[in-house]
Amino acid sequence: MPAPTLTVRLTHSAERLVRMEHPWLYAQSIRSASRAGEAGDLAVIFDHKRALLALGLWDPDSPIRIRVLHRGKPRPIDRSFFAERLRDALALRAGLSSQGTTGYRVVNGESDGLPGLVLDRYETTLVLKLYTAAWLPHLAEVRAAIDSELAPERLVLRLARAIARTTEERAGLADGAILAGPPLEAPIVFRENGLYFRCDPVHGQKTGFFLDQRENRARVGELARGKRALNAFSYTGGFSLYAARGGAPSVVSLDSSRPALDEALENFALNANVPEVARASHELVCEDAWSALARFAHERRRFELVVIDPPAFAKAKREVATALSAYARLAELGCRVLAPGGELVIASCSARVDADALAAAIRSGAARAERRLGEWLRTAHASDHPVRFAEGAYLKCIWLRAEG
Ligand code: SAH
Repeated sequence: MPAPTLTVRLTHSAERLVRMEHPWLYAQSIRSASRAGEAGDLAVIFDHKRALLALGLWDPDSPIRIRVLHRGKPRPIDRSFFAERLRDALALRAGLSSQGTTGYRVVNGESDGLPGLVLDRYETTLVLKLYTAAWLPHLAEVRAAIDSELAPERLVLRLARAIARTTEERAGLADGAILAGPPLEAPIVFRENGLYFRCDPVHGQKTGFFLDQRENRARVGELARGKRALNAFSYTGGFSLYAARGGAPSVVSLDSSRPALDEALENFALNANVPEVARASHELVCEDAWSALARFAHERRRFELVVIDPPAFAKAKREVATALSAYARLAELGCRVLAPGGELVIASCSARVDADALAAAIRSGAARAERRLGEWLRTAHASDHPVRFAEGAYLKCIWLRAEG
């Protein structure tokens, strides 16, 4: 059944935004709407000359009132529309499996034309993560498209915190629900660049793994030969394993979560057939990263490779200043444990902190530690996380080398 529609007109500036392919329209961009509308209704957007501009998903419960699905000529938003978007997205990721990667992002929301919807693959399981309740009335069609294009063994539903309650109430679906396929009795084992990893897509952070860091992890692997490595905020040991495979003789995984570190140990065991991984000594430190780094500095422990990949500090604008001082402090602590000539890799997934601000914070932290760092590279998300609008660019990674 086609979704109910409502007719929408925008302010002039918002019209321009849509023409520039921005996928979000905030409440204040809407000049008029033909009725109040419900989450998932199809917004038919006309321009000031009464020509059809775009179609979008209406969401009265979110400050992002419309997520644009389609621009230009009218067309039905149905199973075949979703299937087309999935095929385009799959084409972008076609090379990954042959590179030994069976865990990756299939659909990156807005940037793959399905705003507010993420689809991740772990081997034969797909994880559908929704960020707006506007998808709920379209779920059956989306699932049919997923079945026809990807035929997964299992489909898991994950919900952004903001819509978890509404989704239970409106659709009787809980975060972590298995929408299709057998129940999950054990973690899924998937491959990334030939390494094996376990993940729990029902309970794990994000959809179970930080897929966006794949290419940065691979780079860390390339840097690691002969270096003692420290992976702060290690989660399940992603950067640690790449460092070990890359030839680091010793790796420390530091995280405050015991279950994450238990998984890091399991992940090392899964890759014990790789000689470099088997040879590397792997130490788990379950502690607050700030205090552990300060303790290492005090104990004069030094590392030639330090990776710092903390959780997001600034989701809102007002948190930016605090976030920047946190990054500066982490950079300072990183410098205090960095051996002469060592490599420091600092990532930020705070959407509100841009790369220049992050780099400046790192420089001020380094100055406090009286170290000189040369920045030699900036990177972002892996290629299966395309970013086609400014707000989507949340991940920054800065690569620095100690000059002395
Ligand atoms: N680098 C990881 C992802 C890091 S996610 C990867 O590539 O997979 C952030 C991690 O920081 C989580 O595992 C969380 O448990 C941990 N964390 C959050 N606050 C912390 C703190 N104060 N000290 C140490 N670890 C912390």
